[in-house]
Amino acid sequence: MILRRGEGQRSQDEEYLNLGERRIPMRLVRNSRARRYVLRVRPDGSARVTIPRGGSAAEAQRFAERNTRWLERELHRLATRPSRPKEWLTGTEIFFRGELVKIEAGLNGESGRVRFGSEVIDVADPAADLRPAIERHLWRLAAKELPHRVLEHAALDQVAVCRITVRNQRSRWGSCSRRGTISLNWRLIQAPPFVLDYIILHELMHLREMNHSARFWREVERVCPHYETAELWLKQNSALLRQRGSRNQA
Ligand SMILES: [Zn+2]
Repeated sequence: MILRRGEGQRSQDEEYLNLGERRIPMRLVRNSRARRYVLRVRPDGSARVTIPRGGSAAEAQRFAERNTRWLERELHRLATRPSRPKEWLTGTEIFFRGELVKIEAGLNGESGRVRFGSEVIDVADPAADLRPAIERHLWRLAAKELPHRVLEHAALDQVAVCRITVRNQRSRWGSCSRRGTISLNWRLIQAPPFVLDYIILHELMHLREMNHSARFWREVERVCPHYETAELWLKQNSALLRQRGSRNQA
């Protein structure tokens, strides 16, 4: 192969690969730095095979054919994986303390600022996806506020709490351990205060009853008579938990 300056060390051919009934596009990419054939599934559902130095398109094709099982599995995974979280831009409505509030640009031409509800935050680029910055802000707010609320309820109901953490759980609003640690999901700052209170009381009552027995629910009802309304809100808004940001790390 002759390489010309500026052309780089790659060249491509478009091929197809038969997968059972399906025929998927396959790109063959030569890479003189590659040491072996590499098969990848691209986000658009096509396949890509890297051809190493000294390799051939025919061998790449055979390599892909030997790996159709793997390819099918990967394509299935691609098709069924959860979609990426939606972008948040100015104009997007988000839940904040149970209300839908609109993300707005800073007033009076303030650049690098956005606001929603009572909050004003600085962002690097107001035209970019605001979600990571806003979620970080919400998490910080939750970490500051939620533990106080837990302590207030704990004092009122005379339950001993050892530790409170505010986390980014995948699928739960709250949990508690036998040692007396209560963990709350920062997204509770997006829920109405009565829902937040319910989750806190639910976890506090677990410090008395570590199960979901009738006795446990009686305790919950005693301290939180309208807990079923809160449960309903959580059920109706369970999408909040699924909208996970990808850039948040605990
Ligand atoms: Zn529970």
